[in-house]
Amino acid sequence: MTDRIETLAVHAGAEPDPATGAVVPAIQMSTTFKQDGVGGLRGGFEYGRSGNPTRAALERAIASLEGATHGLAYASGLAATQNALYLLAPGDRLLMSDDVYGGTWRLADKVWRRYGIETDTVDLCDLDAVAAAFAAPAPPKVVWIETPSNPLLKIIDISAVARLAAVAGAITVVDNTFATPYLQRPLDFGADIVLHSATKYLGGHSDVIGGLIATRSDELAETLRFHQNAAGAVPSPFDCFLIMRGMRTLAVRMERASANALVLALWLAERPDIERVHYPGLPDHPAAELVARQMRSPGGMLSFELRGSEDAARRFAGSTRLFTLAESLGAVESLIELPAPMTHASVADSPLALSGSLVRLSVGIEAADDLRADLEAAFAASAS
Ligand code: PLP
Repeated sequence: MTDRIETLAVHAGAEPDPATGAVVPAIQMSTTFKQDGVGGLRGGFEYGRSGNPTRAALERAIASLEGATHGLAYASGLAATQNALYLLAPGDRLLMSDDVYGGTWRLADKVWRRYGIETDTVDLCDLDAVAAAFAAPAPPKVVWIETPSNPLLKIIDISAVARLAAVAGAITVVDNTFATPYLQRPLDFGADIVLHSATKYLGGHSDVIGGLIATRSDELAETLRFHQNAAGAVPSPFDCFLIMRGMRTLAVRMERASANALVLALWLAERPDIERVHYPGLPDHPAAELVARQMRSPGGMLSFELRGSEDAARRFAGSTRLFTLAESLGAVESLIELPAPMTHASVADSPLALSGSLVRLSVGIEAADDLRADLEAAFAASAS
């Protein structure tokens, strides 16, 4: 019998310890493991970079939540991204959404380009453009999807893009950080690899940096596992424990954050001082039908463009009380930021450049009415 995702979130990776009965996986700090004769490994563990029992529990947990057969954990979301990009060889091309986390773009554009891997960006919502990219003389080897995207909340049709990629022999990677497996399971839609900044919703409490990958492909898992060990950007056992602890409450946190975000998005959409709200739960979102097909609910992230100058946006973002002005997202507390000068500063002067009046909210699990009152007070304070 397959358990539902709410149940998996609580139990995945955490079988009671057969030796002690402990319900929570132990934080195993040992960096090395006794061998019974050379190569005689007791639990399959040899050296902490290659594998660790606490990390293995987290890796089983993400595989289970994403409906995968392999999970891999890393020291950060970008370390996971770096590891996925090791699948490329010099001369290969990477196709990326034209709206992605600024650090992902920076890694592709400023690091991998130096090693002979070119990145093309297109609007992956435009399937004709995706088909044209795969029909080019040097088609991409990997297509990189973020859906919902950061920070414009674009929704990309994973099945349609993965089908086009598969025909061209390319690998589809989905960064599922914004949705989490609770709202969307990309492997079910044909993606080859799903990736997370576990720093965000999976950790859920702004107290741990981590990255995760899951796949159903034995071949991809073997290459990823090789590079995980060879490059060594692995998380500490304590970080693995914290991410797993966060994952236990994923379902209830996502439900509340998503419900709160919908309340705020509907309210913001009516305000005259706002040009446009980007939230996949609004009835007029360009992909409303796709959201219903691909996601359980639209999630806790939204962004909006304020009428007026970038200064007005800066004043607004500095005027909230409950929404903390800070980078990152996906935790219990609500955060506010301006992507152009903050999380996405590295896309300035690129095809991904953003408006200075764009404000991004990570809506937390506080009372929706308190969050709305906070924004209302900030509008009043920053207008004067
Ligand atoms: N992917 C997305 C969508 C992100 O928002 C981030 C960070 O903000 C990352 C990846 C990178 O993750 P990390 O900061 O854990 O390296």
